[in-house]
Amino acid sequence: MTPDPRPSDDMATILHVDMDAFFASVEIRDDPSLVGLPVVVGGAGPRGVVAAASYPARARGIHSAMPMATARRLAPDLVIVPPRGAHYRAVSREVMEVLHTVTPEVDQVSIDEAFLDVRGARRLLGEPAHIAELLRGRIRQQVGLPSSVGVGASRAVAKIASARAKPDGLLVVPVEDTARFLAPLPVGTISGVGPRAVTELGRLGVRTVGDLLAVPPSALRRAVGPQAEALRRLAAGEDRTGLETRRVRDRSLGTERTFDIDLTDPLEIRARLTAMADEVARSLRRHDMLTRTVSIKLRRHDSRTITRSVTLDQPTASSERLREHVIALWERSREEVPRVRLAGVRAENLRRRDEGAEPLELTGRTTGWSDLEAAWDRIGDRFGQGSVHRGSQIRPAGPARPIDAGGPADSTRFSDPRGDRAVPRAQDGGLS
Ligand SMILES: [Mg+2]
Repeated sequence: MTPDPRPSDDMATILHVDMDAFFASVEIRDDPSLVGLPVVVGGAGPRGVVAAASYPARARGIHSAMPMATARRLAPDLVIVPPRGAHYRAVSREVMEVLHTVTPEVDQVSIDEAFLDVRGARRLLGEPAHIAELLRGRIRQQVGLPSSVGVGASRAVAKIASARAKPDGLLVVPVEDTARFLAPLPVGTISGVGPRAVTELGRLGVRTVGDLLAVPPSALRRAVGPQAEALRRLAAGEDRTGLETRRVRDRSLGTERTFDIDLTDPLEIRARLTAMADEVARSLRRHDMLTRTVSIKLRRHDSRTITRSVTLDQPTASSERLREHVIALWERSREEVPRVRLAGVRAENLRRRDEGAEPLELTGRTTGWSDLEAAWDRIGDRFGQGSVHRGSQIRPAGPARPIDAGGPADSTRFSDPRGDRAVPRAQDGGLS
């Protein structure tokens, strides 16, 4: 099948990739004698808690965050595996590498899940649904693990869809069907609508996402505060919140992320900023551009936004240099922003690498990035091209699961073959 050369613009292109029972699945992969058994990962001691439960364990009512003692009562034959954090992180990196084979627009949000915007990958790889199946196949083949993918017009919809696709499934919600897909779901399905909001909304007679549309905006604001408009837009199928990665435009280039939960851990904030600095630097190098002004943007929990920038002596596209400046800017601002709702990194004052005479750097190089970084980019390019080639041959895959079966025009694709199942709650905090 030839990918559509003129992808339509109004297509759901946000993917939420979520590993199924991640820690437990890794342990089962590494020890096949555990297949089919109620396996949990977690501490076996008296205060142990379930960190992840295999699907056979879930069938007995065991779920993550449950005390291990309770899990033992539910399944006397329970297999308890102690967690191996470093191992899971290494496997997570392998999964994320697979995701990066289809697009650089990957926003990893936890050890086992990420959002992708595949808008730019459609010309090469085809429709988002095909890209999703391609990724699930590669994760299965190269990492040996099951994953689920939701495709939607926004992060929120993609996330709800992946939860409903589990285990080992794909669920596509076409743009035009979004409101109808969401309408019957309990409001608590929406990530960020916690138990308190569910209670408040219940007082207004709101049980389902669709009920939100019947409530006057002022009443909704009183019940849930400033999220009200976002909720209404989501319920109406108008939410288009994506990864918010921007391309070269007006000679500035940057990326920003809104976090589902405010970040407070300085290590995590630094890690996110480092990743964004690297993303921006790579983007500069891909476009053969250098930057002379680096800025960061931080939005607080109360929506106050601050920006800080620095003008460099030498233009650069080095990940290392950008990272240094971004972290220095963050260090200057961190007291003002104890809780980070949104963070962004931007390169401004851009110029082409070959534009005008660049002053020599101390090393004598004028490229603005190191040989190591250039080599890294070349490896990345080759990796990407190779996988694109493989991807184009993947097409007519074997029989799809029932949930995948609909073509793009089939608006019933979101119907759940396991329809009587409870809807997984997005905010239960466990790995699903
Ligand atoms: Mg998961």
